[in-house]
This record gives sequence, C-alpha cells and structure tokens, in this order.
Amino acid sequence: MFRKLLLCVDPYPPSNTLVSHAIALKQVGAEETILAHILADAPLELDTMLREQARPEMEQQKQILEEAKLKASIAMEAGIPAHALNALAEKEDASLLIIGTHGRGLLESMVLAGSPLGNVSSKLLHLSHRPMLLVPNALPTKETGNAPPELFSHLLFPTDFSDTAEIAFAYLETIVRATQCPVTLLHVQDRSRPAPHLGHRLKELQELDGLRLQRLQGWIKGLGAPDVRIDLIQGNPGDEIVKRAKSCGCSLILMGTQGKGITREILLGSVAHHVARHAAQPVLFIPALL
Ligand code: ATP
Ligand code: MN
Repeated sequence: MFRKLLLCVDPYPPSNTLVSHAIALKQVGAEETILAHILADAPLELDTMLREQARPEMEQQKQILEEAKLKASIAMEAGIPAHALNALAEKEDASLLIIGTHGRGLLESMVLAGSPLGNVSSKLLHLSHRPMLLVPNALPTKETGNAPPELFSHLLFPTDFSDTAEIAFAYLETIVRATQCPVTLLHVQDRSRPAPHLGHRLKELQELDGLRLQRLQGWIKGLGAPDVRIDLIQGNPGDEIVKRAKSCGCSLILMGTQGKGITREILLGSVAHHVARHAAQPVLFIPALL
C-alpha cells in the first residue's frame, strides 16, 4: 500500500522520528525511501556549502533505513520547499509523503500574523494529491537506537461517512489486516451548525449514525481486530477529534483530507485543517479522488 515513501527532512535540528515512522511502515508495505531535502535558491558557493552541511545527517539517516532493510536514496534540490517536494513526489510517484510539522508555537504565531499556511507541511497538505503522514515535531525522538515507534498501537478513525472517508476506510482495512491494531471509530455530530429543519429528526439521525458506526465496526472486527470501539458524540468536529485523540491515547489518526463539504477545489477541508494544526499525534491524511 505504501511502497515508496518520500521523507521530507529538515536536518536542523536533527531528528530520527520520520525515519522511525518510515521503518514502522514496513508493516504495511514500505520498501523504498527517498530522503528529500529542499534548499533555498542560493548562489553556487552558498548552495555547495548548504548541501555539505546537510549531507552527514542525511547519510546517517540513509544508513539507518538501509540497516532496517529499506532501499534508501537522498534527493537534495533547490527551490520553494512545498512546491519542490510536491514536484518530487509526483516525479517519483511516491505512495506516501512523510513530513514533520513545525513547533506549535511557531505555527500559531503565524496564524496570528494572518498566515496559517506559512509553513512547509501546511502548504504541502494543500498542494498534494497523495497520502501524507504528518508528524508533530513535538513528539519525543528516541535517543537510543531506532526502534520503530508504536505507530500502530491504537488507531483513531474519524469519519463523516463521506466518499473520502470511505477511501480512508479502505486504508484502515489494510492497516488492520497487517497489524491487527486496536481501532476507535469516531463520528462527531456537528452541532456547531444549527439545522433547525432537522430539529425534530435529531433522534432518528442519532440512531442512523450509530448504525453506520456499528456497520463499520462489524466490518473491521471481521478482519480479526481484537479491539474495535465506536464513539458517537456531538460537538465541533475538529475540536472533538483532537480531544478524543488525546483521551483515547491513540498513536495515529487516520482521516480524509476532504469530507462532505462541497468546495472540491480546496484540497483540505476545515476539519482536516484543524486536526493538522492541533493534533499531538501523527495524522495520516488520505486524499479525495481527483
Ligand atoms: P468543509 O467541512 O470545511 O466544508 P470537507 O467536508 O470537504 O470541508 P472536512 O470536513 O475537513 O472536509 O473532512 C475531512 C475529514 O475529516 C473527513 O474525511 C473525515 O475523516 C473527517 N471528518 C469531517 N467531519 C467529521 C465529523 N463530523 N466527524 C468525524 N470525522 C469527520
Ligand atoms: Mn466537512
């Protein structure tokens, strides 16, 4: 499923978190990795210096990947990071991009400054049509060794029952088949938008959503997963997903980049965007079909 991984690495400060996740993804088919680092356009002399600075760290990561029996290569290019990474993912036909977020403080200060898309990961999420694993930098890196973090110890799957969530569900099935990991299926009934015309049918809607979740639960249990929970709550979807991720102790959130919204030209829906910015856990985003 995720045969070829593009790791978007920024060697400063050095972190092996993305590399560890790449190794964990071997369980779901990873075979080949590209360590990609984009440098700012610079005059030749400076460019050479920047490349030389980044190389030792990247060579070390390459070696770790190879020791874990993953094919690995290094790609260093000059350009605008998000655009260059997206172009590289297309050129290499990467099955998955893995990228770290910046520190929350930095991101929030950019939001306050009116530019929520001010960092590479956020821009890339809006640009790319490929699955993407967004890894919060705040996660502690394993200082000793490079044992894969427990990426698949408990998966949270938020769904709005949209077509895109259904595509994400197919990925969930594959992951569960391979890892048998515990799963929580979550639907948030959006009460932030009042729908007066539905007032008298809220109970019916509640039952319907419950049945939908039970159907998904039955399906995942049928794949042999020992622990599949369902969670039907009311509130603001973005906020609730972030809260639930924390309270259920999940290791990974798997969700669509779009949902039932109708603005197809915007590649990242508002709930997805909120989770990307605020979740403390890695998020695996599955894009809508073009
Ligand atoms: P928007 O809602 O901003 O118009 P959209 O509907 O296209 O955009 P999102 O709502 O961000 O996109 O949906 C992205 C993903 O978020 C969905 O595929 C689903 O995984 C998750 N999601 C969205 N709404 C809910 C919800 N109410 N409960 C659980 N998960 C949700
Ligand atoms: Mn939506």
